[in-house]
Parts: sequence; C-alpha cells; structure tokens
Amino acid sequence: MEKENMSYGNDYKYIPATSIGSGAEHQIAAHLYYQTTQIVNVCYLSDPEKNEWVLVDAGMPKSADHILSFAEEHFGSNRPPRAIILTHGHFDHVGAVIELVNHWDVPVYAHPLEMPFLTGEQNYPEPDSTVEGGLIAKMSPLFPNESINLGNHVHELPKDGTVPEMNGWRWVHTPGHTPGHVSLFREEDRSLIVGDAFVTVKQDSLYNVLTQELEINGPPRYLTTDWEAAWDSVRKLEALKPALAITGHGSPISGNVLSNSLQQLVSDFENIAIPDYGKYVHKKKH
Ligand SMILES: [Zn+2]
Repeated sequence: MEKENMSYGNDYKYIPATSIGSGAEHQIAAHLYYQTTQIVNVCYLSDPEKNEWVLVDAGMPKSADHILSFAEEHFGSNRPPRAIILTHGHFDHVGAVIELVNHWDVPVYAHPLEMPFLTGEQNYPEPDSTVEGGLIAKMSPLFPNESINLGNHVHELPKDGTVPEMNGWRWVHTPGHTPGHVSLFREEDRSLIVGDAFVTVKQDSLYNVLTQELEINGPPRYLTTDWEAAWDSVRKLEALKPALAITGHGSPISGNVLSNSLQQLVSDFENIAIPDYGKYVHKKKH
C-alpha cells in the first residue's frame, strides 16, 4: 500500500515548559520503562520472550531525538518498536510521532473515536484559558490543538481490547479528556498506563508542574471537554485496582498511596477534579 504523507497542524511548535522530572528515565516494573519529555511521560513496554517492544505515546513537540536515544540505548540501534500506541492525540502525546514513524517505519494505533484528530479531519476544541485553575490554563492558548494527519500510518486498536504486538496488556476506553482516550493495563502485576485520564500533579499551579509535587488530580482541565465521562473513566480505572500507575503528567504512583488517592478521586471527583467554572463545565448546582 502506498504510504501517505504525514503532517502536523499549522500551530505545531516547541513549547518552552519543563519540570524537574524532565529527562528522567526509569524502569518502573518488569519490562516497563518510562521517560519524561519536558512535562509529559512516554512508556516503553517490552516482551522478553519475543525480544520486542512497543512505544506508548510520542512526547512533546521536538522530542524525537530524546526518544530515539533512549530506544537505542535500551533496545539497540537496529531494533525499532513493533508499534506506537497512542493514549490520545493531544499535542503533548504526539509531538514526535511523525519523525518517529519516518525513522522506524512502524504502524501507529489509536481508538476509533480518536481517528478524526489523527487524520486531519477534526481539530481538538480550543484549550479553555478561562477555566478555574491558574497559570497553566492561562498559558494554554499557546498549545497546539489542530489535528495532525498521520494518513494511513494510523490504525484502529483491535476491538477485542488486545494491545497490538504486546501480549499481556489490554487497552481500556477512558473517554472524557478526549473522546477516544485509552489507558493500558497489565493484569499480571496490575500495572496501569493512565494517559491523561487522571494525573499526579496539580496542573493548575505552575509551581507544581515545575516541581511535579505528587498530588492526584483529574485530567488536565483546560483540555477536558466531557467531565461526566471523565468521572466514569476514573471509576473504571479504580475498579481495576491498579498496583502501579504511570500518568501522562507527574510521577508514577503505587501501592496504598495509589489505591487511597484513587478512591478519594472517585468519591470526590466533583470537588477535586471538576473546575468550578469554565467553557466545558456544566456543573449541577447542589
Ligand atoms: Zn491530553
């Protein structure tokens, strides 16, 4: 099949934001690594039996070299991943995807409902800079929201919940932050790759984003458009009883701290996560 050209949106650009976690690389569980590109985490899942691996998410704009050097160091220079899996298509999760696909010539997978945002058909809504929540929200008009176009390099995740090329993992639909948002779960050790269904840093404070102080919160506010769905998604993830969670933003969280704070988030989502006001907020008055 003829490979189609790929392009970023016209508003694609480097975002000058960083955190003390930036550049960190860690093995966090068996055959599971994460790397922080500026303010967002990408994950590497490997299958020791087949000696194969997949990449989950593609970092901030202009982070391709950072991701490529990690991959070469850990898997060897002639060992491309079998696939790139996207939790969703926001700019900070697809920032290097075109360079990576060009370099490795590998397929990209995403949920069917995320496809319009990955094939140039539909832009994400504008970030809501008026939402309750301080400096990062105020910065958010800088953030690219135009659809990228991956053409026929992007494919739908299999309907049966399996993760392409990676045994032992399954994907879970966790909409709300975006319509086709997914999280990935490994039953064996209850490892969870959350994406932005919840985060462990309070994004409404620039100070917290810089220091990545651990604090569980709902999805990033300025880009979340369906808060009821987001709440249901957090319920769904809590019900999986994860032992370890790597979120798209912030530090990994595990054990009792994870289970307690996730329960808290589910029961008090309205106060912890849902902003008091904003374009995409329709809070019922109690
Ligand atoms: Zn996002």
